[in-house]
Amino acid sequence: MSQRIKIKALLQSGETGTEVTVKGWVRAFRSNRFIALNDGSTNGNLQIVVDFENTDPALLKRITFGAAVSITGKLAPSLGQGQSVEVIASEIEILGDCNPDEFPLQPKKQTLEFLRENAHLRFRTNTFGAIFRVRNTLSFAVHQFFQEKGFVYLHTPVITQSDAEGAGEAFHVTNFDLNNVPRTDTGEVDYKQDFFGKSTNLTVSGQLEGELGAMALSDIYTFGPTFRAENSNTTRHLAEFWMIEPEMAFYDIHDNANLAEELLKYVISYALDKNKEDLEFLTQRLLEEEKQKPQNERSELSLLDKLQFCLNNDFERLTYTEAIQILRDSTPNKKKKFVYPVEGWGTDLQSEHERYLVEKHFKKPVILTDYPKEIKSFYMRQNDDGKTVAAMDILFPGIGEIIGGSQREERLDKLETRMDELGIPKDELWWYLDTRRFGACPHSGFGLGFERLVLFVTGMGNIRDVIPFPRFPKNAEF
Ligand code: ATP
Ligand code: MN
Repeated sequence: MSQRIKIKALLQSGETGTEVTVKGWVRAFRSNRFIALNDGSTNGNLQIVVDFENTDPALLKRITFGAAVSITGKLAPSLGQGQSVEVIASEIEILGDCNPDEFPLQPKKQTLEFLRENAHLRFRTNTFGAIFRVRNTLSFAVHQFFQEKGFVYLHTPVITQSDAEGAGEAFHVTNFDLNNVPRTDTGEVDYKQDFFGKSTNLTVSGQLEGELGAMALSDIYTFGPTFRAENSNTTRHLAEFWMIEPEMAFYDIHDNANLAEELLKYVISYALDKNKEDLEFLTQRLLEEEKQKPQNERSELSLLDKLQFCLNNDFERLTYTEAIQILRDSTPNKKKKFVYPVEGWGTDLQSEHERYLVEKHFKKPVILTDYPKEIKSFYMRQNDDGKTVAAMDILFPGIGEIIGGSQREERLDKLETRMDELGIPKDELWWYLDTRRFGACPHSGFGLGFERLVLFVTGMGNIRDVIPFPRFPKNAEF
């Protein structure tokens, strides 16, 4: 038997006349003669021609949708449409049977909901094959981008003592027997007896630890799992997601925004280059899906055009205050079309507002800066106006917030005052405050939600479809 070759490589460079071995899963078997074989290296199937007259009928019967097979044969130019080469099988081995009466997948279009319930098998569809190859490319591109710039990849802890935002969205980590939790004399949970001797949780952000690294290594980034127990059953939230958090010494808010825009463009362009076929497939998928919508709800641009558009245009930059003005004067606000009317300065933007700015008003990605300090975190740098902080959110079409970041407050007195105002325990964050005591410097960073990026690039509509095994309220299957 010749050496096994992956289908992608074979389609790219296979020389006709040579003997090859390919292995994969049967996607279709027509006329007892043509197998469409897929091995996940590409969405393109390889056509295998079976000499059915000289093949044992019992073997032919086992070539069913989903079966794993190994095929050896000669590579030949294909006469049929849709492929340039095919393999004339001389040896067929069934590696794993797949009973069509029991196999949950069918060789027809199945709904995304059905596939989500069968997430263990959905990799075997063209759509999910494309999504996860694109996801892979994007994650590699993120590393490549930062590595080229000399950033250090820093692994921040998954188990932490602090809930960075103090938002109470953290999952507890405990070793207690939950039926018999030790309590103090006053009836409170006695964390002293727990594994870490303190109350601990899964990290909601690696930022605070990331800042510690940046205060010596200059530029670091994290890229790891992040957990939030927010009970938001939306198409943009997961309970477990991956976040990329760069943190840069000596960067102000503008340097921060520039880096974020450059990163997004770099990784999108990387995927367009590396996964052209997959993105063409996903563009077609979206077109088909949108055919079911009324004309006025369909996207103006196709997925590929949207990605290209993103690369060719500067992101719009404006302040929160300017955005509020635009929203207040907007037609949907005047006609009371927003679920949350835009009343005045100081309230947080809802996703419908963010999407109006991006999709209707500017029609391109938007970087919003200088938010009211009341709606942002304690560590953001206070502006001279006494009302706003040097925050920066990047909003994307169809997604809303994709990045949240800021210049950090490096002045100890200002930081401590703000923590006191918000009731954030300074003693617990003594190590964070130390960076402001010893060699503090201006610095900035942001968090990019990786799945929101994959959502944008693949044109999918639900974040649960761009992570292999989504975790969300009432679901941790697989
Ligand atoms: P949102 O308002 O959309 O809930 P957030 O303000 O809570 O976002 P940050 O705390 O700033 O978000 O987190 C940084 C980034 O992480 C966000 O811009 C987003 O891309 C991503 N993100 C936040 N929460 C989630 C989640 N539950 N699931 C997936 N991605 C998330
Ligand atoms: Mn949130």
